[in-house]
Amino acid sequence: MVISDKIASSLGNGSFIRKMFEEGDRLRKIHGPENVFDFTLGNPSVEPPEKFKELLKEFALNPIPGMHRYMSNAGYPETRAAVAEVLAEQSGLPFEAKHIVMTVGAGGGLNVALKTILNPGDEVIALSPYFVEYGFYVDNHGGVLKVVPTNEEFLPDLNVLSSAINYRTRAIIINSPNNPTGVVYSAEVLASLGKLVEEKSQQFGRPIFVLSDEPYAKIVYDGVKVPSVFAQISNAILVTSHSKDLALPGERIGYLAVSPKINKGDLLVDGLVFCNRTLGFVNAPALMQRLVTGLQRESVNIQEYQEKRDVLYNHLTSLGFEINKPQGAFYLFPKSPLNDDIEFSQKAAKYNILLVPGGGFGTPGYFRLSYCIEMDTIKRSLPAWTELAKELGMKKA
Ligand code: PLP
Repeated sequence: MVISDKIASSLGNGSFIRKMFEEGDRLRKIHGPENVFDFTLGNPSVEPPEKFKELLKEFALNPIPGMHRYMSNAGYPETRAAVAEVLAEQSGLPFEAKHIVMTVGAGGGLNVALKTILNPGDEVIALSPYFVEYGFYVDNHGGVLKVVPTNEEFLPDLNVLSSAINYRTRAIIINSPNNPTGVVYSAEVLASLGKLVEEKSQQFGRPIFVLSDEPYAKIVYDGVKVPSVFAQISNAILVTSHSKDLALPGERIGYLAVSPKINKGDLLVDGLVFCNRTLGFVNAPALMQRLVTGLQRESVNIQEYQEKRDVLYNHLTSLGFEINKPQGAFYLFPKSPLNDDIEFSQKAAKYNILLVPGGGFGTPGYFRLSYCIEMDTIKRSLPAWTELAKELGMKKA
């Protein structure tokens, strides 16, 4: 075998999503790309803000000597200070540059954080439905992922969560606004989580961290605000990126922020910086750090996403699909009209609709649609949804 048994098994387990990609390619060749409705990928369809392009031009025309060299493994002090300034405003806490580590996206940041805090066999809790990469990231660093279901509104069930925490629990990963449900945790939900984590940390005599994965924090609708995790949870580490809020996923730029309230926070940051280096990231991309320094208060056009959400949500609910209306991110997570979400995804593919079954997020019986695609594609898909609902005998079709 040219690859390890573990990687071979991971490749095997991921094969269904790969099959959907291949199915998409096959359908595009037969029917033409404009007649295939691919809702599988979370790749932003909008462009970065104008200010990003202006700054990019500015750095290209007036380069700063040495701007492409290595810097401190934590990132440029002025970039970290710009991040800290906004976090201080949002949380009311004394954030400084020393609390921030610039990372290679949120995925890089999660790996850095997990490598820093996990001992072999430590458990990390993810709340299902969850971003499936968490399992691989935890495993990368010798941890064990423990999946705990949320309630019917996709919010943490504190009783279930409480009984899942034990002396091996090192961290709980939360993700609000959530991929795939679009749910946003309120300040009250965060506060009760914070209280639970504090009690359990005391009970087991070591800190349990809340790793708050927030790449969608600026993508919220209907006036909803994402409360600061730091204002509610003392043991919080924020991990985020500009993949979604500035539509820069290919540029791999994000950061980690450690709460000023964390005991021995300086040591934790030293560990994060060391792991950023030794995982081989070395530092976050230099040019992107320069650019995002001036973009901390910018975001893509959220209105575009809200309109896409509304068109798709309104049509699907009119056909009888049951959907918890998302408050953020750019996904819908409807209940599958068939018990078997894989069978449903195969039926949908007959109408050239591609989606991801809920089993891919630890929650079978649902399916995920990414609406970060062209509005035109969404609108052209609507008759296909109507036909699909008719075939399934859905009551409102
Ligand atoms: N976390 C969640 C919940 C995501 O949906 C994604 C990307 O889709 C990531 C992390 C990874 O983001 P990044 O591109 O910044 O690594």
